[in-house]
Amino acid sequence: MAIDFTQYIASYENYPEPGVLFRDISPLLENGDAYKAATNEIVKFARERDVDMVVGPEARGFIVGCPVANELGIGFSPARKQDKLPGEVITASYDLEYGQASLCLRKDAIKKGQRVLVTDDLLATGGTIDATIRMVEELGGIVVGTAFIIELKDLKGRDKIADYDILSLVTY
Ligand code: IMP
Repeated sequence: MAIDFTQYIASYENYPEPGVLFRDISPLLENGDAYKAATNEIVKFARERDVDMVVGPEARGFIVGCPVANELGIGFSPARKQDKLPGEVITASYDLEYGQASLCLRKDAIKKGQRVLVTDDLLATGGTIDATIRMVEELGGIVVGTAFIIELKDLKGRDKIADYDILSLVTY
């Protein structure tokens, strides 16, 4: 029977600041069956798209993407925050509610033509995933799908990445 992942998402009002309703995947991660089932769903989505490589943004994109890459026997490259990756990197900036943030990817993380799945825990406005996608494409990768545990529909991230296939396991 299919798991209802909603029961493994915790919600916190006014976190990290007043007016924000924070959705937390920690209970899902802490339950072996639920974490495995969520990973399996994303693995299935990836298999249907013949994925060669997984990329996820710091930090919860790693938690979602690494077990998927491992199960598929393919690589994972972390998109890290500014000044966290040594060596040659490329950078993409994106807007936050107040100001900007940047993510970096190793310059040789992806080979031209590789089919890439991009993962994160949550899709909100889409800025984070869009920045990650732009870097993958700058390196010549083909983004064949994006996968999230949670999608916050009101924030319309889906519109920002409308050109890409999206899997979200829980929507609010
Ligand atoms: P976006 O860039 O606006 O789509 O925001 C998504 C990013 O912010 C993801 O990397 C999430 O980890 C983080 N994020 C935004 N809202 C939440 C939330 O309610 N819970 C957990 N993470 C969040």
